[in-house]
Amino acid sequence: MKKNKGQFKKGNKPQWTGKKVPEDVKKKISESVKKAWERGELKGYPKGRPNPKIREVRLKEVAEGKHNIFGEKNPMYGKKHSDETLKKMRSSNKPRKGKLNNFWKGGITPINAKIRESKEYKKWRNEVFKRDEYICKMCYNKKRYVEAHHIKKFSEYPELRFDVDNGITLCRKCHNETKHHEKKWEFFFEWTINLRRHLA
Ligand SMILES: [Zn+2]
Repeated sequence: MKKNKGQFKKGNKPQWTGKKVPEDVKKKISESVKKAWERGELKGYPKGRPNPKIREVRLKEVAEGKHNIFGEKNPMYGKKHSDETLKKMRSSNKPRKGKLNNFWKGGITPINAKIRESKEYKKWRNEVFKRDEYICKMCYNKKRYVEAHHIKKFSEYPELRFDVDNGITLCRKCHNETKHHEKKWEFFFEWTINLRRHLA
């Protein structure tokens, strides 16, 4: 039994409402749901769920753009992150100033490079790839070289560096698209991961 992952809980404040989603990100989400549907990725997920047929029909409709997937109709409405991630996020709600952050940010590229060479980092990256089946979650192009993207920035959230929930698989082209706009894409990536978790 999975514990509470991907389940709705009453009384929890929805995380997915009240957030302003940029129009191009909204468009990307719709496109990505459509592509995921076409790939059959979403089709497979409802397996073993109480009402797989209903879920499947609903997802197909989402992919066809029949629903407004933002706000209450969002499958992630009221969705919770795992307790562990929440705990980490709480402690890292905004980028901290001060010693720790400066330590990671200020001109110590060799240290960051070392981290990226580390076993722990490679393990994190492999787990992200595995969860995403080595396919870019933005364009779903199977043939492209993939990289693991940190949803919340590597430099600003040291405690989330090896959190699989904070990673997503992107091809190099899409990864470049997100550079310097990390904040804007956070919603899209979290949404994508949570959609899959919700269906898993
Ligand atoms: Zn891509």
